[in-house]
Amino acid sequence: MTDAPLKLFNSLTRSIEVFEPVHPGEARVYSCGPTVYNYQHIGNMRAYVFADTLGRTLQWKGYKLTHVVNITDVGHLTSDADEGEDKMERMAQREGKSAWDIAKFYQADFEQDLARLNVQPKQHPRATEYVEAMIDWGKSIADKHCYELESGLYFDVSTVADYGRLARAVTEDGEGRIESVEGKRNAADFAIWRKTPAGETRQMEWDSPWGRGAPGWHLECSVMGEALLGFPFDIHTGGIDHREIHHPNEIAQNQAFCCNAKEDGGLDDPRNSGAKIWMHNNFLVERSGKMSKSSGEFLRLQLLVDKGYHPLAYRLMCLQAHYRSELEFSWEGLGAALTRLKRMVMGFAKWHDQLRQPPREVPGDSWEYERVTRDLVARFDAAIAQDLNTAEALTVLEEMLALKKVAPECIVTAAVKMDSVLGLGLGKLQRADLRIRPISATINETEIDTALASRKEARAAKDFAASDAIRDELGAAGVEVMDGDPLGWEWKLA
Ligand code: AMP
Ligand code: ZN
Repeated sequence: MTDAPLKLFNSLTRSIEVFEPVHPGEARVYSCGPTVYNYQHIGNMRAYVFADTLGRTLQWKGYKLTHVVNITDVGHLTSDADEGEDKMERMAQREGKSAWDIAKFYQADFEQDLARLNVQPKQHPRATEYVEAMIDWGKSIADKHCYELESGLYFDVSTVADYGRLARAVTEDGEGRIESVEGKRNAADFAIWRKTPAGETRQMEWDSPWGRGAPGWHLECSVMGEALLGFPFDIHTGGIDHREIHHPNEIAQNQAFCCNAKEDGGLDDPRNSGAKIWMHNNFLVERSGKMSKSSGEFLRLQLLVDKGYHPLAYRLMCLQAHYRSELEFSWEGLGAALTRLKRMVMGFAKWHDQLRQPPREVPGDSWEYERVTRDLVARFDAAIAQDLNTAEALTVLEEMLALKKVAPECIVTAAVKMDSVLGLGLGKLQRADLRIRPISATINETEIDTALASRKEARAAKDFAASDAIRDELGAAGVEVMDGDPLGWEWKLA
């Protein structure tokens, strides 16, 4: 059933490649995770919906998945140029809390958002748990690839082959991407270890051969990727911004580490890049430009929920676009995604209601399908196997739900299977879960239901004056009564 070879766009080669696992039957994926100094905005969450959809697709293809999403709780500076403050320490000072408490709080918030978006559980190692390993790694590459400056230990990018091939950038001038710290040999050189400046203390600092201080941000992903997945692993993901600096730097460190650790392969051997395939999701943007956390209030998943949108409407919004395309956020677009999700949930419920028993667990290839369902599953498979064409996959699912005269068991089984890739939770969502209910609403659902039941009685008794009065009362509380709504809604908040 799932026959189309899985093809993925590799940013390293800028081409679509057939996925061939490093370890037969397994897929090992590392996705750069959040810096937990603040809430994640919904743009960040697009990166995790993408990574999750990739993971689910690998499982659909039968691979045993190991998926790591790290938590950056130290080392990420406010500037990419190895200057500026540590984001964690700065927020800790601002909020008058410890950096550890800040990390704990925002990690928990992040994990809540992941769950609300039906992102499957993954491993979440924290950078602070790997500092010793980072120091060991630094020691192993320091002689051949690094040099010390007053401010710390720096990686010399000219010591590895083809630095920046992922970014397609020129090493010598860095194309203005990175400013220089005084004394850097190359503009693109970056800190492996940052010394705490004399006379200052950090909340998070450790002793190292290069002074007391904290690791550079890029080092953690190399170290945790190697420790948890082994080099080379299959796929490394992140947002498109990471293609320019963070991932080229990870690759440089990986090359240095791999060539130190073993004899075979040279600095230009692709196996020494750490991961075989590097994938990047494009940005979620606002009409006014790139989404950012720096401008005071920003778009969080919680804001969508407060405005009454189910979080999975946002997941669907992400799936409607290809992950490599920019996606513009708008409330109208989110509303349209919510309506689409409602229709799918209702379409699925209609088939499910026709089942006399709950759907059977049917093993992959021995499904006894009616031909039409089998063809649709094949089309779904072909769509997601083509570099995760989720937009096409969604239309195939909708086409199937709109069928007539097919055994409900076939439809339900196929829809559940397709949803294992899409992660919309069609079998769990109820239509009522998807009603827009802003947190500011002054009337609760039970009160609305009671009023509507009385109105029904009044209408049955042909007491239209009473029925109209109830409708007006509800209207005054901001609830619009919807008679004969095509989606079957009885009311909505006006
Ligand atoms: P950060 O917490 O800033 O390190 O970002 C976490 C993840 O979100 C990274 O993979 C970023 O590349 C990604 N990201 C940041 N902004 C956006 C955006 N507007 N749209 C999509 N992904 C983003
Ligand atoms: Zn990373």
